[in-house]
Amino acid sequence: MKGVILVAAIIIFSTISYGYKGDIKPHSYDELVEWYKNLEKNYPEYIEVFKANEMYKTGKVDGGYDLYYVCITNESKGFLKPEVLFLGSPHGDETVGTISLYYLAKWMMENKEDRWIKWLLDHREIYIEVSHNPYGFDHHCRQDANGWDLNREADYDWRGENSELWGSVNGRTLWQFINHHAIRVGCDFHGGTRMLLYPWGSTHKNITAKSPFSGKRYEYAPPDFNFYHAACLRLGEYMGGYGGVFDERNVGTIPSTIGYEAPGCIAAWAYGANVKECPAEDKFVDDEDNGNYNCGIFWVSPELSRIKDPPSWEFGNEKRGYISEVIKFVLHQTDLAQPYLLWVNENNSFSHGNVTLRWQVYGCMVVDETYVVYSFYGNPLKNGMKGVVHNEYEGMYRGGTYWDGKIWEERIDIPENVSDVYAIAFARVDGIYKNTIAPYEYGNHSYLRIIRERTDANYIEVVNTTDGIETIKGNIWWRSPLLHIKIGGIVEPEEDYIYIMGERWQEARKQS
Ligand SMILES: [Zn+2]
Repeated sequence: MKGVILVAAIIIFSTISYGYKGDIKPHSYDELVEWYKNLEKNYPEYIEVFKANEMYKTGKVDGGYDLYYVCITNESKGFLKPEVLFLGSPHGDETVGTISLYYLAKWMMENKEDRWIKWLLDHREIYIEVSHNPYGFDHHCRQDANGWDLNREADYDWRGENSELWGSVNGRTLWQFINHHAIRVGCDFHGGTRMLLYPWGSTHKNITAKSPFSGKRYEYAPPDFNFYHAACLRLGEYMGGYGGVFDERNVGTIPSTIGYEAPGCIAAWAYGANVKECPAEDKFVDDEDNGNYNCGIFWVSPELSRIKDPPSWEFGNEKRGYISEVIKFVLHQTDLAQPYLLWVNENNSFSHGNVTLRWQVYGCMVVDETYVVYSFYGNPLKNGMKGVVHNEYEGMYRGGTYWDGKIWEERIDIPENVSDVYAIAFARVDGIYKNTIAPYEYGNHSYLRIIRERTDANYIEVVNTTDGIETIKGNIWWRSPLLHIKIGGIVEPEEDYIYIMGERWQEARKQS
């Protein structure tokens, strides 16, 4: 009898944990595209599905395919927001990323009223390439219709391994898409092992770097090794251990971690092929024929599942399984595109007596300095008082952010007859990452658009994109929206619904 109850409990629990009805995996590329088009129909103000190969006139993919890209954003807020890009697998038989990205899109739509998700939809453009290899997806094979490996054809140390230089329409479309945008963060999903991989893929073998956490050495180290390493370790912690733990054994540069070189891979190109900004890479790039590339992207190549095409039940849902891991991957990377601050206090709420302001710092690895400026009479930037300066994480590699669970506080004593508090919080972040490794090899500046923007006040980049002119201007101090709290009057309980990801966050969601 006990056994029966146990089995029944397991069945009920499994039904709850893996709650998607019908087929989790689409049977074809066409079906997957159809799913996205249905989302677009249901959420027309947030989702656009388009054929990037037609937009950039790159032709049809061999096998007769179009390359569908998806844009997820609150369209009413325009199209000049920080952009991120996630590719369905270039290797057709590695299915976890390709399929789970659809569930990420669906999940974001279903949670678009959640305060943080709403903020991301209002302040980011999230691009998805449905599949970078539709032929391989349909035929359950690694290569495209020509037998080419689409992760060996990019114009960075291209050596002709199972590929032509930008031979595929898939590759040429990606190149055009990136050149016509200002992508900050990106990824190409993989499977077959469990790793978070970052550049380089085959160059600068002799440049070694030590993990600032453990001292472990990595070869093929890029100038932004410290940022890549710290950010990917934090990403791995957040994604969790469903498919296996991420730590310094499986988070690292491509050859140091996977054990072989990957010349012509997308990751190294997307990171380093802007030779105007990164002249040390000129010898690996055929810009003489192809022109300069608009790279400088924080690009990571996750290997999610040891089985390349795992069974449906392993995909799970938004809480557990590979779908949950891909959702977390995209949220973490989308957040990092630009620093920002959000209040924990509810705007326009009432407070009785003294006020404690609470805020969190997002989109970064470390908070070097943060404080509030507040006023009882309107704009705090004009006549405000400065709160306590917090700088205990200054110069560290990690700490003080939303991702660390940190909530900053300022208690304000309210004088008599005051009826309003106005406040803006400020933060300076990620200063340690301004200095890169091996300046004798690379020059002393970051290759990453996102790091230059937040650590170099003089940085300016103007990109003529498909969405218009995008300007990225160096900025050291980031500020929150204006917070207004009314004093006295109606007494309401203080807002303490805190958006912390992970377990506590899921608990909070369950109750709501
Ligand atoms: Zn792969």
